[in-house]
Amino acid sequence: MIKTDKILHLKSSRGRKVRVVREHYVRERVPCFSALCLDGCDNGDKVLPKDLTHYVVPDVGVVVDYLEILELREVQGIVFTQTACQAVQRSKGRRQYNRLRNLLKDPRHDCVLFANEFQEFSYCQREKGESQEKWLTRCVHAAAVWYYNHLAGMMDVVMITEDQDAIAQYGNLYSGVYVISVQDYLQNFWSELQPAHELYSSISQSLQEKESEGTEREFTDHLPAEVLASGIKSGRYIQGMLNVNKHRALTEAWVQTMGLSDKNTELSSEVLVYGNKNRNRAVHGDIVVVELFPKTEWRGKASVLTEGPGDDKNGEDSQSKPVATGRIVGILQRNWRDYVVTFPSRESSQSQSRNSQRILTVPWDYRIPKIRISTQQADALQDHRVVVRIDSWESTSLYPNGHSVRVLGLAGELETEIQTILLENCIHVAAFSDAQLREMPVNSPEKPWRVDPAQVAERRDLRESHMVFSIDPAGCEDVDDTLSVRRLGGGKVLELGVHIADVTHFVSEGSLTDLEARARATTCYLADRRYDMLPAVLSADLCSLLGGVDRYAMSVLWELDAHTLAVNKVWYGRTIIRSSYQLHYELAQALLNGVQTEVPELSHLSPHEKDDKLVQLIQALEMLTYVARHLRVQRDQGGALELEGVEVRAQLDNDKNITALVPRQPLEIHETVAECMIYANHWVAVKMQETFPHQALLRHHPPPRQEFFSQLVDSAKSKGFTINTRSNKALADSLDQAVDPQDPLLNKLLRMMATQAMSQALYFSTGAISQDQYYHYGLALDRYTHFTSPIRRYADIVVHRLLSAAINMEKGQSAAKILLVNKEVEELAHHINQKNRAAQQAQRLSTDLFQCLYFKDRDPHTDQCCIADAVIYAIRDNGVLAFVPQYGVKGPVYLKNREGKVVSAGQDGRCEWQSGSVRRYPNHIATTSAAGTTTLTLFQHITVGISVQSSRSHADSLILELLNNKPHRSSEHCQAPTQGRNQLVQEVVRLAEEASQQAQEKATRRPKLSKQEREFCQSKSPNLYLLLEEIRELALMDLECENTT
Ligand SMILES: [Zn+2]
Repeated sequence: MIKTDKILHLKSSRGRKVRVVREHYVRERVPCFSALCLDGCDNGDKVLPKDLTHYVVPDVGVVVDYLEILELREVQGIVFTQTACQAVQRSKGRRQYNRLRNLLKDPRHDCVLFANEFQEFSYCQREKGESQEKWLTRCVHAAAVWYYNHLAGMMDVVMITEDQDAIAQYGNLYSGVYVISVQDYLQNFWSELQPAHELYSSISQSLQEKESEGTEREFTDHLPAEVLASGIKSGRYIQGMLNVNKHRALTEAWVQTMGLSDKNTELSSEVLVYGNKNRNRAVHGDIVVVELFPKTEWRGKASVLTEGPGDDKNGEDSQSKPVATGRIVGILQRNWRDYVVTFPSRESSQSQSRNSQRILTVPWDYRIPKIRISTQQADALQDHRVVVRIDSWESTSLYPNGHSVRVLGLAGELETEIQTILLENCIHVAAFSDAQLREMPVNSPEKPWRVDPAQVAERRDLRESHMVFSIDPAGCEDVDDTLSVRRLGGGKVLELGVHIADVTHFVSEGSLTDLEARARATTCYLADRRYDMLPAVLSADLCSLLGGVDRYAMSVLWELDAHTLAVNKVWYGRTIIRSSYQLHYELAQALLNGVQTEVPELSHLSPHEKDDKLVQLIQALEMLTYVARHLRVQRDQGGALELEGVEVRAQLDNDKNITALVPRQPLEIHETVAECMIYANHWVAVKMQETFPHQALLRHHPPPRQEFFSQLVDSAKSKGFTINTRSNKALADSLDQAVDPQDPLLNKLLRMMATQAMSQALYFSTGAISQDQYYHYGLALDRYTHFTSPIRRYADIVVHRLLSAAINMEKGQSAAKILLVNKEVEELAHHINQKNRAAQQAQRLSTDLFQCLYFKDRDPHTDQCCIADAVIYAIRDNGVLAFVPQYGVKGPVYLKNREGKVVSAGQDGRCEWQSGSVRRYPNHIATTSAAGTTTLTLFQHITVGISVQSSRSHADSLILELLNNKPHRSSEHCQAPTQGRNQLVQEVVRLAEEASQQAQEKATRRPKLSKQEREFCQSKSPNLYLLLEEIRELALMDLECENTT
């Protein structure tokens, strides 16, 4: 080791320059992290591969300004110097620095960190009179030269810099070490990588524009960090996350306060921030600091229906009682993400200043302010959706400044809109990389996958002893759960078995596939497609518990007393199974009902053999039903809730096409399977929690806040029903009672309202909260987790690992190595919760999208499909909220328009707009005009016309117009009314596919793999069944209550 002096020129806190001399030790050996190393460096796991054309070493300025380009996964072989990393920390702050560190840690990105300042031969001492910038550039160049020499000239090294002098000075110094500009680099090495070129031009443009900022102040300055910190500590300021009201985005935002002391009873959990000036450049999602106004300046929130989101014009007249109100004085953390925006139309962009190329773009998300972009392509990008990032928001600027990242496509096209939904919810669905796919086991006709004898020795083999079967929707290909049931001990004991795909056998912790699955956290189901969490070779093949093939499983086996069904013994462990029957629900139910049906697995047998097998199968199904009924009764006594969820079920054929949409037929077998899965999840939760009291991943469902029930209680009361919300049991019982024989829809609507009042079920770590909070309110279980769907949920993968650690510990093996500690489990739970919420939101938005596409070109006054029966489920000041059962659509019905006219019904109930007034009462609303008074009451059936409110920059939305205040008798012009919202999806998908097929060359035959399968190695399948199942958990949110949930 050699000692040198390192001289730093720092600025003191008072702004004086200080010269600091530090002892600096350099070494001969510093790891190079290259697979080409001949020198025996201590390189560890993450190394740059051999098979690249070059390594690239970015200069300090490039890392600071153009990191986004280097973040593209396609750009490989990057050497980040320590010099450059430190410069990022100095000039861009911790957030950007952490981004760089995460990039370096992520094994999916081909980049490494070189500690150049500790390497004897790459270390440069600053020379007298040399500027800081020149010195740093010289350091980076020295590092590039060192790499070339260290790898014995086997790899060309490219240094990229925006410093023209450096290019002139170093460009021709060594052959094999190239020094070029970023632009030259991209053109020479990545000419095909369009995203990189687009990023380069937009970033360089915005860097140029930045120099010509104005100086006039639009906002007050944010307070310094120390002042904020001491203010929060003393209670003078409050910290929280900014949540902009989507429907009043310009004026109304709320700061959801964190850890506010309960002493201050006047404050609820939120503070209102009214108006743009008080919001002081904070963007939706930022962590901000607020100062409260004196009570005399507090305001109330508006309670009228607005004409769709973003419309603030009529918010002033009606206010509720004043709430805590304040202004933002500082921002602790920016939570900016990528945003989808639309460029202004040609006419309006001309009114913006033309000499500069700055354009105000409108984000798709109403809650995000307009973003100013510097570009020369404003004309070309009209009518497109474009991804942008915000760079800064100075106090001198009315709008934040940003740059464009890439173009998604023409607004209004199905693919653009779907990509917009994914991006806005931070859902990344890039193809699985080659490196990830290389980790996957092979199963091909030439090389079929086989059970490993070593695994046979380790696992319990159930292939001969147990008749295992699966029951799924018809056409399901990712079978992650199977069942078995048999009598033991001369009939005194029932053995129930749940066998789940052993995904963790194939996905080892920390592998590339594991990291990808963790990042995705869940398979994402949109209305017309899905994005798998795992590559198809696992999800649809080796992990899928198909009939007649050997598969690895994680099993739970219970020995139950045949009479009382008390649990005598539970066994958890790894098994090998061979499923005998792959049943679908209707078939299983038919067998139970004694209907003569053909079981495909038995079709080749002789009649005699067939009868024997059939009897055996039916007995098993009967036993299963018996057990499940009993388990259900147990939970019902505990207060389990049956909430409104699935309405229709899609029936799929073997190619997974939708053959029919069947109205909800509650088959008992469906409940039976669900009950067995709930049982398995519960028992695995118990096992994990007992073995790992501080680091098990469980799922709880907190009880709802009582105030959320007020709408449900009041609405039911207006119909003479009492809803008791004291406990889950009381709620379940009183919901069962609230049935109007005249109108079955009433009970359904009440259950929908109950769903809305519910909290979300969430994953958590057992070490993070006390045990009385583990309770699952909806299922009425003291402990619960997710174990039964590891193919499509990452939580289940974590649970499988914990369960096998628990099993190993019982066998006396240590499990400590792979176990996550409480804090890590908690972080993981938080991440998965967030991803689940995003996936649900995307699913909901995609459903909305399809509904709008379906109604878009129809005339709501003449097209019979647009005229439907609706039920009023809430009253507002200027209208009502209604539910259209035929399509599963909810929306506002306005009774007063902007011209001040009101809806008035004639003798026959037909409605028209007339001058008049509107008045709201607790359970009804009335309009008065020259034609008389029209009254609408809660739960009244009305006839509405459905139309689309188009939007250039945002998502389209549906509008319901009152056509008649009497119920609508569905006409036969439109297809079967019970088919619901999924018929829309089907119809729209068909039209979109027809359009894209026509665009394709007709001569080429359709390839066997769909586009998605080729691009993403994952299937495009509208597994609507699962989509609908997910809706169960998706609390249907109301237009006006999103702010509070
Ligand atoms: Zn080396």
